[in-house]
Parts: sequence; structure tokens; C-alpha cells
Amino acid sequence: MLGSLPEIETDALLRLIAMAMEDERPEKIDVGVGVYRTSDGATPILSAVKKAEKRLWESQESKGYLGMKGDKLFPELLKPVVFGSHADDPALMGLQTPGGCGALTLGFKLVKAARPDARVLVGTPTWANHEPLIRGAGLEIVTYPYYRKEETRIDFDAMVEAFENARPGDVALLHGCCHNPTGADFDHGQWAKVRAIIADKGILPFVDIAYQGLGDGFEEDGAGLQGLMGAVDEIIVSQSCDKNFGVYRDRVGCLFFKAGSPEASARAMDHVMQLAREMWSMPPDHGAAAVRIVLENDDLRQEWLDEVASMRARINQLRRRIAACDSRLAYIEDQKGMFSMLPLTPAQVDKLREDHAIYMADSGRFNVVGLSDDDVDRFCKAVLEAMDG
Ligand code: PMP
Repeated sequence: MLGSLPEIETDALLRLIAMAMEDERPEKIDVGVGVYRTSDGATPILSAVKKAEKRLWESQESKGYLGMKGDKLFPELLKPVVFGSHADDPALMGLQTPGGCGALTLGFKLVKAARPDARVLVGTPTWANHEPLIRGAGLEIVTYPYYRKEETRIDFDAMVEAFENARPGDVALLHGCCHNPTGADFDHGQWAKVRAIIADKGILPFVDIAYQGLGDGFEEDGAGLQGLMGAVDEIIVSQSCDKNFGVYRDRVGCLFFKAGSPEASARAMDHVMQLAREMWSMPPDHGAAAVRIVLENDDLRQEWLDEVASMRARINQLRRRIAACDSRLAYIEDQKGMFSMLPLTPAQVDKLREDHAIYMADSGRFNVVGLSDDDVDRFCKAVLEAMDG
């Protein structure tokens, strides 16, 4: 039976990773990667996390099951980070999931259970795994224009028009901050407009927040989501700690949601737990337990905040340096997080790889921290040459 499965095309990003690994040119620059890197190309374990893991190892006396919600303190400690002054909303509930992907899957399955014919409005472009996860939950996708790559800006008017045409009960997927793949986030005025249309049209916001702290700071990066919290009765939020705690492979995330009342949220939680039971039953404990220990101890929490601040400083310093190279790259400084998108065609991206050993996704998405401090000038020169070519 299994032999009858058709071949599937290898994911373009995986192909890129394989090609980059095989390339032995010493000048190779890999900005296709999806993780934080130091100038030496390392993705280190944060010192606060390492210390929390040590405390966990020393104090943990049982690996007995924790239940479908995982570590119950973990979402509670995250709430003030993600939701600020809305953390105490009695209708806001959350549970641990295997990474942001687990939270997205569970959140969309919850939508499917509540309203099987709901449509999900998804901006183009978006993170490559969004659409498969939404389709996997059995929901219909309606795309809306998000970003004009050639003009290096959000296509806000087209997006607003798409939202104006939405049906009540449609779900709008929004990036909380540090948009992947474009780096283009809403400004305050745009968030205000998005809030108003969502409330006016009866759209359910589904906010994916996977990079909080890596843009302008935790408060600043959470502001858009927190503004929405004040404007709507219902919201779903998928959160990931994998980047801002550097625990990628430990799969640490949270699904939060708020229904119209604490009772309605409690009923939704029962559904969510049943859905989780059908997929992974219980989330893996280790990473979330380490994050919990960081958040509940003042010394580790401060150390973590300082470490995230230094990651953010490196990201933003590289952005400023790239922007200073040429006016055509100036927009990079205003964008947020690890990713930005260069206005390059796939052929120009190929040429960068062939002529300069520079690896990035076909779309022109690149990870600024894929660059070492010494790479910046050569990278910019090659990119500008490709843009002219
Ligand atoms: N949302 C976005 C926008 C992402 O970029 C990612 C990961 N690249 C995720 C969610 C999922 O994160 P995780 O690795 O925690 O599943």
C-alpha cells in the first residue's frame, strides 16, 4: 500500500539548505536560515535557559504525565508578556502546545469545530506553513494582498478592501509582529484601522505571534495584539517561545483564546483539550518547564530579557548597516525581526547563489542575522548588482 504513494517535490527551503551545505566556497553566505545566529554563525542556547534546565534537572522528581494542558503555570506566566494589561481578562485562557505550529493547528481545529464553514483570510505572502496548517484543519482559505515586494511596502488599501468584503464569522490571520517573510509590520495607524474593520465586520482575529521581543521590544511588539484585545470579544492567539527563548527543537508554544465570556472560554477549552488529545495527547514538557523556570525566577528572567535585548540589538544594527549601503535598501531599517524580503526575481536569486555563493529563498526573503559582521558590505554590493542585472 505505501508503495503506491506518489513522489512529492522536496520543499524549496529544504533544497536550499541542502545546496548551501554542499557549497564549499569559503565566501558562502547563508541568509536562507530560519533561526537566530551570532556573528560567528552559531545558534547558542541562551544562558538563562541553560541555567533553568540545570535547575529543572536538579529538582524534577517525576516524569509522570502532566495532562493535556501541559505545564499549567507556563501559560499563566506568559500571559503578562504577551497580553500586557489584558493578562487578567477572566475570559482569556491558554494551554501549552508543541511549538507555534501546534498552537496554529489546534487553533484552526477549534475554528473548524465551532464553525465548519468559516473561511480564513490569509495575507500574501505569509509564512509558508500557514496555508498547509489551515487546510489541514479542513478550513477554506481566502487570500488577501499584504505586501508589494517591488515597492517594498504593505499593500494596505488592498488589504482593507479585502477585509471590507469579508463575511461576518470569517477569520483573519494576522502576524503579531516581525512579519515572516517580509519584516513589514503595521504601524500604529494601520493597527487602529485593522481593529476598527475587524470589530465592525464581525471578523474573528487569529494572531500568530512567534517573534515577540525581536523587533522593538516585548511591549512594543505586543502592542498591536494588545490593542486588538481591547476591541473584540473573541480572539485566538498562537504563540511560540521557540525563537525568543532559542528553544526551537524543544517545541515550546501556547494557544490562547478568549470567547465572549469566561463560561464560553471554559467550554472552548474543553473542546481544545479533546482536540489536543486526538493529536499529541500531551505536549512535551522539557522546554516549557525550562521557560517556566526562567519566567518565575527574577534573576533568570532578567538575564533572559538582557539576552533577547542583545539579539534584538544585533538584528537592528545589521538592518541599519544594510539600509545605509544604498537608498534602495533603506526600507530594511524600518522593518522588524529577523526577516526581510528583497525585491529580486527568482532568476536574480539564482544568480546571487551562482556568482556570489549567497543563499536565500526564491522569494527574496533573507534572514539578516545570517550575515556575519564582516559580510554586510559584500552582501549589499552583490544584492545591488543583482537588482541592476
Ligand atoms: N509562525 C510563524 C510566523 C513562524 O515563522 C513560525 C516558525 N518559523 C511559527 C509560527 C512556528 O514556530 P514553531 O517553530 O514554534 O512551531
